[in-house]
Amino acid sequence: MSDFNQPVSGNDLARFAGLQTFMRLPVAPSADGLDVGFIGIPMDIGTSWRSGTRFGPKQLRQESAMIRPYNIQTGAAPFDSLQCADVGDISINTFSLADSLKIIEAKYDEILKHPIIPMGLGGDHSLTLPVLRAMAKKHGPVALVHVDAHADVNDEMFGERETHGTVFRRAYEEGLIKPSKVWQIGLRGTGYTAEDFTEAAGWGFNQRLASSLWHKPLDMLGKEIVASIGDQPCYITYDIDSLDPSFAPGTGTPEIGGLTTMQAMELIRNLRGLNIVGCDLVEVSPPYDTTGNTALTGANIMFEMLSILPGVKVR
Ligand code: MN
Ligand code: MN
Repeated sequence: MSDFNQPVSGNDLARFAGLQTFMRLPVAPSADGLDVGFIGIPMDIGTSWRSGTRFGPKQLRQESAMIRPYNIQTGAAPFDSLQCADVGDISINTFSLADSLKIIEAKYDEILKHPIIPMGLGGDHSLTLPVLRAMAKKHGPVALVHVDAHADVNDEMFGERETHGTVFRRAYEEGLIKPSKVWQIGLRGTGYTAEDFTEAAGWGFNQRLASSLWHKPLDMLGKEIVASIGDQPCYITYDIDSLDPSFAPGTGTPEIGGLTTMQAMELIRNLRGLNIVGCDLVEVSPPYDTTGNTALTGANIMFEMLSILPGVKVR
């Protein structure tokens, strides 16, 4: 018997049976005693185009039932050394984005009193701003790996300063992140102005356009990011729309010409060594995910991020 929580095995209970938690882990009533907590943030009221990410946490949990505990290709055995559990969903106010962001921040403040790495299941990308507010209170400004088709650095959308498209401008203005230790990977598509991305480069953000990564392996980029960030506390925010819509169509603001699933795995696997203090996987929109492939991919990306957390044994 392991001292650590284990996912329910598909040989003990059929994978299509049982309560839906992330990777069939136990539910924990609080963050107490946990190294890692998966936390659902079912929200889509920060989106600007297609909605539906309110159903993301449910669908990510459902598709995660297929994932087995050992990462065969990397040798990572996260459940051999980390105490992991699903801590449930945050009770947002679906009628108020502003209120919801306050609720998310308060919930993260509470769980970050414990030495836990929260892994957020989104939800639209606006959730990352209150998470970073809580993270900065605990760790100071954090390094950031932001994988996304979009830089999410608009100033306002319809006069609103807190939306899924304004997160990283607010995080920069509020000093929640270290600009020279921000890496935005996979940017592409069309913009409102010619300077949509380059303004943030002027703040110090390191940006890689998807087109500069086409047909290339991303292992060296991962290593470059690790060398650049060093031992700084680092948050990883993974927007599923960084992937090409042929791989991940079930999302709110798809952009063609994106990363492949293989590049996503190469990138994350080569981020091992970062001092990761939290992660999220956002923008999975099940109503547009008719095959379940987007949520399946998102759940596996979550597992890849789990596999590189500090303290994970590699066999
Ligand atoms: Mn985004
Ligand atoms: Mn995006």
